[in-house]
Amino acid sequence: MAIIYLDNNATTRVAPEVREALLPFLDELYGNPSSPHHFGGQVEKYLTIARTQLAELLGCRPKEITFTSGGTESDNLAIRGVLAARPEKRHIITSQVEHSAVLVQCQELSRQGYHVDFLTVDSDGQIDLEDLENKIQQDTALVSIMWANNETGVLFPIESISQICKAHRVPLHVDAVQAVGKIPINLGSTHIDLLSLSGHKIHAPKGVGALYVRTGLRIRPITWGGHQERGKRPGTEPVPLIVGLGKAAELAHGWIDEEQNRVRQLRDMLETGLAGSIANLQVNGAGSPRLPNTLNVCFKGVEGEALLLLMDQMGMAASSGSACLADKLEPSHVLLAMGVPESVAQGAVRFSLSRYNTEEEIREVLKVIPGLNEKVLQLSKAADPVKKMVSP
Ligand SMILES: *Cc1c(COP(=O)(O)O)cnc(C)c1O
Repeated sequence: MAIIYLDNNATTRVAPEVREALLPFLDELYGNPSSPHHFGGQVEKYLTIARTQLAELLGCRPKEITFTSGGTESDNLAIRGVLAARPEKRHIITSQVEHSAVLVQCQELSRQGYHVDFLTVDSDGQIDLEDLENKIQQDTALVSIMWANNETGVLFPIESISQICKAHRVPLHVDAVQAVGKIPINLGSTHIDLLSLSGHKIHAPKGVGALYVRTGLRIRPITWGGHQERGKRPGTEPVPLIVGLGKAAELAHGWIDEEQNRVRQLRDMLETGLAGSIANLQVNGAGSPRLPNTLNVCFKGVEGEALLLLMDQMGMAASSGSACLADKLEPSHVLLAMGVPESVAQGAVRFSLSRYNTEEEIREVLKVIPGLNEKVLQLSKAADPVKKMVSP
C-alpha cells in the first residue's frame, strides 16, 4: 500500500536531486576538508558552494552561515551563544508556543537562574506586540521567537518584532525551521540577528542544519574543539549532509512559488473539504496568517490519537502535533496556550503537506476521514478508546 504522507512538519523525504548531489561525498570524495593535502582540501570548495546556496535562499552573506547538526543545535547555539557572549545580561523573552528546542531550553535556563518571560498568545495564536515591547528591559539579553509554528502553521509578525528589537538594541533569534522554504525570507531587508533552520524539514537528510549569525553579532561557542566554522561550531564537517543541505536550499529557492500556490491550494482543499463534511471540526489558528502547507484541526469529542491510529491502518500518516512530544498523550501546549479547552485539544490532528503530495491523495483522505471520525465518535462513548484499539 502506498503511503499518503501528510506529516511533513515532522520530517520530509530526501529530494532525489539532494540524494544525487551528496552521493559522491559518501564514495570517492571522502576527504577531510581541513586536510593539508589536495585529496582532502578539494572537498572544501563544496562547503563554500553549500554556504552560498543557503545564503541565496535567505538573502544573507555566505560567511554568516554556520553549519550545525540540526534545528535543535542551532536553537541551542543561538540562545546560549548569545548569553555566553553577554554574561552581564540575565533576561530572556520567548513565547509559550515555541518548539521544545527553545521552550525546554528556556525552562532549563530559568532553573539556572535566568529570568525568562514566556509571552502568551491569543485564541488565534498571536502574541501581543505591545506586551513584547513592555517586557524588554535593560537586562534583556535576547528575544527568541519562532517564525512559523510547527503545530498550527501560525506565522508571527517577524518584521514588526524585528523592528521592536532593533529599536531597543536587543538581539533577535528566530527559529525559522518551519518557515524556510515555505515562505520568502530576506535577511537583507528584515533585521534578524540569528536564524535557525534544519535540513530534514526541507528535503535534505536528518542531522544537519544551520544557524545564521548577522555580521557584527558576537556569540560564544557552546562546544569546544577545532577551528571549523570559524570556531563557532568545532568538529569535522559532515560534508555529505552539508552538500545535501545546500542542494535542498537551492531547490527550495526554486520551489517557493509552488509551495505558496499549488501546496496552498491542496491544503485549502483539505481544509474546505473537512469543514464541509465534519460537523464537529475546529480549525486552529484560522484567524492568523499561516504557512501554506499546514492544517491543524480539532475533531471535537474525538481522541485525535484514535483517529490517527485508524488513519495509520489505512496508510495515511499525519500527527497530533509535535513529533518530539507525540509519545506523551498530553494535549498540545500550543493549543492550550491558545485557550483551547483540554477536552477539545485532545482531538487535535495536524496535516502538513509538501510538494510531493497530489490532489488525488487529498481526495482519498477526504473520502475516508468522515467515516473514521464517525467510528471514533462511536468508540468514544466507551472509555479509553486508544487503549482499546492498541490492545483489543
Ligand atoms: C523540527 C523543529 C526543530 C528541531 O529541528 P531538528 O533538526 O529536528 O533538531 C526546531 N524548531 C522547529 C520549529 C521545528 O519544527
